[in-house]
Amino acid sequence: MTTDVDAVVVGSGPNGLVAAVTLAEAGWKVLVLEAQNQAGGGMRTEELTLPGFRHDVCSAVHPMALASPAFRELELAREGLAFAQPRIPLGHPIAPGDTAYLRRDVVETAAGLGADGPLWKAVMGTFGSRWPQLARAIGNPLRPTPDLIALGATSVWPTTWLMRGLRDEHTRALLAGIAAHSINDLHQPATALIGVALGAFAHGVGWPVAIGGSQSIADALIARLRSLGGDVVTGHRVRNVDNLPSARAVLLSTTPRQALQLAGHRFAPRYAKTLSRFRYGPGVFKVDWALDAPVPWSDPELAGAGTVHIGGRGADVVRAEREVAQGRVPDEPFVLLSQPTDADPSRAPEGKHTLWAYCHVPHGSEVDMTDAIEQQIERFAPGFRDRIIGRHTMDPAAMEAHNANDIGGSIDGGLADLRQLLARPTASLTPWATSDERIFLASASTMPGPGVNGMAGRLAAQTVLKRLG
Ligand SMILES: Cc1cc2nc3c(=O)[nH]c(=O)nc-3n(C[C@H](O)[C@H](O)[C@H](O)COP(=O)(O)OP(=O)(O)OC[C@H]3O[C@@H](n4cnc5c(N)ncnc54)[C@H](O)[C@@H]3O)c2cc1C
Repeated sequence: MTTDVDAVVVGSGPNGLVAAVTLAEAGWKVLVLEAQNQAGGGMRTEELTLPGFRHDVCSAVHPMALASPAFRELELAREGLAFAQPRIPLGHPIAPGDTAYLRRDVVETAAGLGADGPLWKAVMGTFGSRWPQLARAIGNPLRPTPDLIALGATSVWPTTWLMRGLRDEHTRALLAGIAAHSINDLHQPATALIGVALGAFAHGVGWPVAIGGSQSIADALIARLRSLGGDVVTGHRVRNVDNLPSARAVLLSTTPRQALQLAGHRFAPRYAKTLSRFRYGPGVFKVDWALDAPVPWSDPELAGAGTVHIGGRGADVVRAEREVAQGRVPDEPFVLLSQPTDADPSRAPEGKHTLWAYCHVPHGSEVDMTDAIEQQIERFAPGFRDRIIGRHTMDPAAMEAHNANDIGGSIDGGLADLRQLLARPTASLTPWATSDERIFLASASTMPGPGVNGMAGRLAAQTVLKRLG
């Protein structure tokens, strides 16, 4: 392994790799160390079921990667990265034959939302048309902009409050489903922030998949890093920062709990204590399928939806997510499903399909949700199970074994509630710096938070350059 470097980055997810590229662009020699045998963290794509079927193990849908200033500045299309847009970003079946659609076009979306159409157009249409400003605002909430203030004023409220003002069930279901990406009780404040941002991005940039799988994003970042003289070493789990090659800076793309294990002895006691209070939220149970034909949706238009939210009415989604937040396993879970092969047929042999879905479960839950998830799909696609030719499941323990950052199956780098969105992982104007002047944090557990957006990595690397460059 290289022994003479300027920076060591621990972890090769989007934040670790964006941080590494940012430093390498500034002329630093950077080494990325990755515990797993395949680089990419939450962007890995693997043949989980059958040969020739490539499944996104974690992230699958990429409005944030497309909108994020970090990714846009890196222009990864130069490394061959390309996205495919599904015909419809999101479908949300409410009852068989009755589906709410979030379409690219805000006017078409509003037309399906009855009395709420004008409100949807005013809020989502306005934010959607200002997506670059919105992405910049969310990308660094420590620098408030008019767009961030407008977003906060519109949607810092609990999702359930906003739902009370809606008159059409289609709008309530759509909003509850996109807000549930917060992996939180939707009665909590700030859950609507994520819903409004994701809804606006659907109109602004779409909800695309990466052609070839999310791994293509990681591969593009690694190619750029190598072209700048950096390197990624896989199969190397870091256990103590003192054993790393000597470097001017160490960037931990881990959650606070692991940062304490690797570097706790280097932190000031007060800082270490604050990190130890960081909270981890619910987990996920995930299923990937190989199918010999498309999902037989009762509503045939759902075949064109890249993402399908399955949970019925808005109130049913709210109930399922509240049960999870309170530590109970819902009988009828809210299922987030991605069907990438309509937009990107390269993922499966000709005529065949891959399908990806997960539901939220209590932190560390050991309950097998395969049957509950498949039953939810069967409600809106009778005969779905007959199309399955391969299946792979991951419970929270398997998620954590795949990626040590997914503690207890928590895929967001730690609970993203209002408190931990504002103080992530600590209340500071430079949350990427630690109490040790040479150790930095660069993961979804730091500002601005989860998703394949690379912003925490970009901001951490910029902090390094400002302080040590
Ligand atoms: C099932 C699932 C679905 C998701 N869906 C989406 C989606 O559709 N769209 C989206 O934008 N986001 C999605 N996400 C979230 C997204 O994947 C994460 O927010 C994002 O990957 C976090 O990036 P990161 O760089 O902070 O860390 P990660 O991507 O988690 O990477 C951390 C890396 O650090 C490595 N590591 C940890 N400890 C060590 C150590 N001690 N030594 C060496 N290496 C170490 C890990 O192995 C891992 O590779 C999903 C996540 C999951 C799990």
